[in-house]
Amino acid sequence: MVDLHLHSRHSDGSDTPGEIVSAGAALGLHAMVLTDHDTVAGVPAFLEATRGAGIPSTTGVELSTQFEAAELHLLGYGFDPEAASLQEAIAFGRESRRRRNEAIVRRLAEFGIAIDYAEVEALAGDPETVGRPHFAEVMVRHGYVADMQEAFARFLGNRAPACVPRERLPACGGIAAIRAAGGVAVWAHPHVGFSTVSIRKILATLIPAGLEGLEAYHSNHPPLKIDSVIAIAGETGLLVTGGSDYHGAFKPYVALGTGTGDLSVPDACWENLAAAIRRKGGCLA
Ligand code: AMP
Ligand code: FE
Ligand code: FE
Ligand code: ZN
Repeated sequence: MVDLHLHSRHSDGSDTPGEIVSAGAALGLHAMVLTDHDTVAGVPAFLEATRGAGIPSTTGVELSTQFEAAELHLLGYGFDPEAASLQEAIAFGRESRRRRNEAIVRRLAEFGIAIDYAEVEALAGDPETVGRPHFAEVMVRHGYVADMQEAFARFLGNRAPACVPRERLPACGGIAAIRAAGGVAVWAHPHVGFSTVSIRKILATLIPAGLEGLEAYHSNHPPLKIDSVIAIAGETGLLVTGGSDYHGAFKPYVALGTGTGDLSVPDACWENLAAAIRRKGGCLA
């Protein structure tokens, strides 16, 4: 069993990279990759820990991109984290997040909620990942709401009045950034938000753009959806990957490795991905 989709506290998970690797070693995972949202800040510590534990790994990231009206997540594996194309994709995410956050500050002010953005940033730690959960925490701290749930329900949730959308990279641009950095681009959890029909249609654009894999095994994919993605990958010649999408205590119903209970990502997913990375001369640790 392997786990190729993991989040640390460098994005929206609760654990440090080292804690995730220790837990993976205890579980006996045969490979694991950190794929934080729009940042590679945790990658060096993660790879140092996997090397120490003797667990195969590589560089990883999950980019939030836009495809037509929808949000589409891309996993990147085996890239050079210093490559300009990848750093630019991350900088785009950071800047669009900052602009969106400034708009949230203005929107909250209209509701009489005075937020000092410096306090929100200080709470978040990494500039790449300042977001709505940190706004919610500051609102709780200053007594504007009783708890995080109230902050999201009344102000910050997806359909709430102080939620401002963020610009995202076009999906093909995200694929190009991963490829130009020497990495393998994989469509994350395609059945989260897309039907089988729309997946096939979107692939007609993403495959020519350089997409190389589909994440079939995922905590939000029930068995029939896993089979559907494996079938599409077979027809289109794409790699099959998988992971739990672990976020630690922030998503307590998703366990490392086993996801919501019976997830088991086959070692072959890692072996095939590692072979693709090796063919490109990419980074394997
Ligand atoms: P952001 O990246 O700033 O748009 O914030 C997204 C994060 O907010 C997600 O990763 C969740 O952790 C959190 N979030 C979104 N909706 C809710 C909600 N209704 N209740 C609690 N947390 C939420
Ligand atoms: Fe997340
Ligand atoms: Fe995702
Ligand atoms: Zn994820």
